[in-house]
Amino acid sequence: MTHNTPITADIFMDPEYEAHLELGEWWRRPPYAIRTEIYTPYRGEGLRPILTVLLDVAQQKAKPVEFANRFGLLGYNYLVPEQNKCSGGDPLPWFMAHVYTVYVLATLTTRIRDAKEQQRTEKLRQYLAKDIPLGPYALGGQVTNIYLRTGSTKPVLAALGILRYLLNANLDGTGYQLRLTGHGLNNFFSFRCLSQVIYWQLANQIGKGSIHRCLECGRVFSCSNPRTKFCLTAPGKKSSTCGSRYNMRKQRKRLKHSRRKKRWVKK
Ligand SMILES: [Zn+2]
Repeated sequence: MTHNTPITADIFMDPEYEAHLELGEWWRRPPYAIRTEIYTPYRGEGLRPILTVLLDVAQQKAKPVEFANRFGLLGYNYLVPEQNKCSGGDPLPWFMAHVYTVYVLATLTTRIRDAKEQQRTEKLRQYLAKDIPLGPYALGGQVTNIYLRTGSTKPVLAALGILRYLLNANLDGTGYQLRLTGHGLNNFFSFRCLSQVIYWQLANQIGKGSIHRCLECGRVFSCSNPRTKFCLTAPGKKSSTCGSRYNMRKQRKRLKHSRRKKRWVKK
């Protein structure tokens, strides 16, 4: 496996990708510069929802084009060598490989947390042995299948190893730099492109416990409150739809149970 291998054509043969290929115009637009001299978009508030929208694309709740219209290109051309550059912007299979890589990282994070909180590693062990996808994963500019399955007897440690591997591969090229300002030298993080910003954010949020899986619908999303258990409250609503549904079902179950108990007492 050489570094920065371009996207291989066999990915286009995958029927799962065909649907995405019909998405239309945007992918053929010429790439625009998302970076001038230094690229530090994390200072802007506009990038806050970026992880949630990307995770929504993985869960078919948003289209790739919606992500691109809102946040721009992930920046394929900033990660590959000159000869591999692509004139049509980010190649869609490469974009989708990043979407699924981020999704696997996020779900793995919630599974590690569940295993730690419940002090039961059986589900995580099974996921690592049988269910973790084989790819295609994105590692910077390249897309590849990786056999991540393991029968490790220490699943939490093995899962953390996978997080480290996929995150480090995608953070390669980020750096710490200095800038000269009116007050002297100022330090900042620099990125080659947006995809690196996303993995940087993800790595930060994993540490803060900001990645969650909804107890009701299973959706994976990002929210800064570490105690969040359900999809967030939609704008204009008083409570989370998933939260109310979950509570209602629990209440109904309790009612049924108490009725049954009463009947039993009568007899
Ligand atoms: Zn939900």
